[in-house]
Amino acid sequence: MASKIALIVVDMQHDFCHPQGSLSVSGAMECVPLVNRLLDSRKISYKVATKDWHPQNHISFASNHDGKEPFTSFIQMSNHVGGKPDEKMQQRLWPDHCVQKTKGSELLSELHLGKVDLIIEKGSDERVEMYSAFSDSFGNMTAGRGGVNYDLTAKLKEQSIDDVYVVGIAGDYCVNYTALDAAKAGFKTYVIEDGQRCVSADSWKDVCQGFIKGGVTVVGEQEHVVQSLLE
Ligand SMILES: [Zn+2]
Repeated sequence: MASKIALIVVDMQHDFCHPQGSLSVSGAMECVPLVNRLLDSRKISYKVATKDWHPQNHISFASNHDGKEPFTSFIQMSNHVGGKPDEKMQQRLWPDHCVQKTKGSELLSELHLGKVDLIIEKGSDERVEMYSAFSDSFGNMTAGRGGVNYDLTAKLKEQSIDDVYVVGIAGDYCVNYTALDAAKAGFKTYVIEDGQRCVSADSWKDVCQGFIKGGVTVVGEQEHVVQSLLE
């Protein structure tokens, strides 16, 4: 029996993709044609688009911390959501981005959005970062508790998905953690490297090392597995 395939289009929103977006990732718009071909594919049975979906007081915004700068400043983030405040990690700070219901949070109008079956809104709990569409940075699965609107693992299992292809923005953050979590959840997971762009382009090599360890396969647009989806 043929595998059932899902596509996850990560955070292709105005703030990350448009040159005038507040956290614009270089080259992001170049991914649009390939992403649209994947959205149009009849071989992919379930198509998910994710949105970073932050309240204005989100912990990852430098503007919410006195004396901190976007990109270069870090804070200590605690696992309040998981009820383990002693568990802490370093959190990089960003410009305000993808604030709920603002222009910056909208998915690009250039995308074939009519083909999307499910929209995941993530990062809605102001206390914690959520790069992955599956769980927050501490691994808490917060569907129904304010962090994210759906349990993506459950949604993919409902559809009997075997294979997951991940594209979108940014390769070194939300694509990275979403793909690693998809593999962890037991899906055969691929990242199509031509369909992503990174905040720091030179970080991609390290990201790929992490993918090898995490059981994620990196493929190029020209490889057979991808071409067979685009026929
Ligand atoms: Zn964010």
